[in-house]
Amino acid sequence: MGRKLVAGNWKMNGTNADLKEIEALGIAWAAPRVDIVVCPPATLVSRMAFSLGGQPIRVGGQDCHAAASGAHTGDISAEMLKEAGARYVIVGHSERRADHHETDEMVRAKAEAAHKAGLTAIVCLGESMEQREAGETLDVVSGQLAASLPEGATAANTVVAYEPIWAIGTGKVPSTEQIAEVHGALRAKLKERFGEEAEGIRLLYGGSVKPDNATEIFAVENVDGALVGGASLKSTDFSPIISALE
Ligand code: PEP
Repeated sequence: MGRKLVAGNWKMNGTNADLKEIEALGIAWAAPRVDIVVCPPATLVSRMAFSLGGQPIRVGGQDCHAAASGAHTGDISAEMLKEAGARYVIVGHSERRADHHETDEMVRAKAEAAHKAGLTAIVCLGESMEQREAGETLDVVSGQLAASLPEGATAANTVVAYEPIWAIGTGKVPSTEQIAEVHGALRAKLKERFGEEAEGIRLLYGGSVKPDNATEIFAVENVDGALVGGASLKSTDFSPIISALE
């Protein structure tokens, strides 16, 4: 297993003024023992990468198009993110699956595009509350994993984020047993498909991770870090989460 990873997803938040949060993070984490990624809106990727300079914190996009270029108004390709200074890109976030009707097949094509551009894809999946209550969680996430991950996925180019939809931005968090069950099942599926390489594919938990629950979540087997939304916007919230993983 490589280094653990904490990724922040700023969603549609952040302007130039918020780059001060990144400067504060850079000062606090000059030599982290875990990988740190911040995914700002596309408008800030370039400036954030520039302001981080040679520091170890990486920048990521929140989505990319499956094509390298072309007639796709409003979209951004993985190559463009790479050129802007990104090293990672989130694909298949449940908000994009819902708002933009993204299917597993589309997510897989985006992950493939990310790999081709030399980016690490953070592939998101997770069940709705209805699916959980119907006892379908493991079937749903296993299906998403199988269909959203490209054949060429490796520990270096792919991270999987388990994000129960009902836990995102709600303050509700699954029990540690529930997280362990899903992460264990995802690891087993990854091993079936990718063999030994699967040991190194990092499995993040995402959904209402906060400074006060991070330690408990990070102690769960097969949790290799977190994808953090709201609590990644302020360095004073994000830093204690990183500390909990170190
Ligand atoms: C997310 O959007 O990926 C997320 C986990 O959000 P939050 O931490 O705010 O629940």
